[in-house]
Amino acid sequence: MKLVSIVVPCYNEQEVLPLFYNEITKVTSGMKEKYPELDFEFLFINDGSKDKTLEMFRELADKDERVRYVSFSRNFGKESGMYAGLKNAKGDYVVVMDADLQHPPAFLPEMYSYVRNGEYDCATTRRVSRKGESKIRSWFARRFYGIMNKISQTEIVDGAQDFRFMTRQMVDAILEMSEYNRFSKGIFSWVGFNVKYIEYENVERAAGTTAWSFWGLFKYSLEGIMAFSTAPLAISSLLGILSCFIAFILIIVTVIKALVFGVEGDGYATTLCVIFLLSGLQLFCTGILGQYLSKTYLETKNRPIYIMKETEEIYKNRKKAAEEKSSDSNK
Ligand code: UDP
Ligand code: MG
Repeated sequence: MKLVSIVVPCYNEQEVLPLFYNEITKVTSGMKEKYPELDFEFLFINDGSKDKTLEMFRELADKDERVRYVSFSRNFGKESGMYAGLKNAKGDYVVVMDADLQHPPAFLPEMYSYVRNGEYDCATTRRVSRKGESKIRSWFARRFYGIMNKISQTEIVDGAQDFRFMTRQMVDAILEMSEYNRFSKGIFSWVGFNVKYIEYENVERAAGTTAWSFWGLFKYSLEGIMAFSTAPLAISSLLGILSCFIAFILIIVTVIKALVFGVEGDGYATTLCVIFLLSGLQLFCTGILGQYLSKTYLETKNRPIYIMKETEEIYKNRKKAAEEKSSDSNK
């Protein structure tokens, strides 16, 4: 028998969870008919939700043996959620997917068909359209992929998603990358392996709202660049060299001009401009350096990527203990 773990990070997903659970159980029982060798576990991650998500996990765990969950002590972000899921998954294959049905479970059988015979280590979807997304957002996303792929050796495929069907081998490779600043698109690509991309049209969220603001996405993309490229550091050195070069030429021109035509005017305005320009450049470059330093600082602290507060095991044990206690007191 082969166990497939389906990892689903959730943050305030009470609206969409019942829909998701319906859909995933339907798809997986269909898969079980077609491939009798498969068993499933559903591993939900509660990323510090403020709504009824955790209560729903408990209900699901009560009625369905296959449901497991890990609940965080607070919101750690989707990246931490995925890491916790991979870490706690027991499967021979692990699927990572969103709860909002933007990663349609209907793709799972096809994805499995690719990894099943060992030809691929990972099957993932790639959206070829960004339907339902605002124009500015898509524009920035395109630019991000453009820049990222120019400056980083790690290829980030445009439209690639965190919807993945992976073998245990690949999951273990990803878990080896225990960095604190996690940018999963880069991590998935960095570990290599044979990846099959299945193209599809973007699907809109089934219910609830996205937790990503535009600003949040912007910061996330900078994070990605910093995590998988040191090009900004090289850019700051280049800027330094360039301004030295310009300064050198300016000096020669000024000296020759002074020798030929004599000194004229007080040059106050020019000096001011140059001071502003150069100190701006310097601050900019120190800023870039600082960004990398701050990432290094956080990494050296070696903080945990997530903190677990409750799992289905803890919940069930607690419930059993409470029941035993009440039956004891009834005696
Ligand atoms: N998510 C999470 N922690 C967060 C934000 C989001 O676990 O801090 C989960 C969310 O519940 C969903 C998935 O990550 O299952 C994708 O989130 P969302 O749909 O908001 O993002 P988008 O589809 O817009 O990229
Ligand atoms: Mg979504």
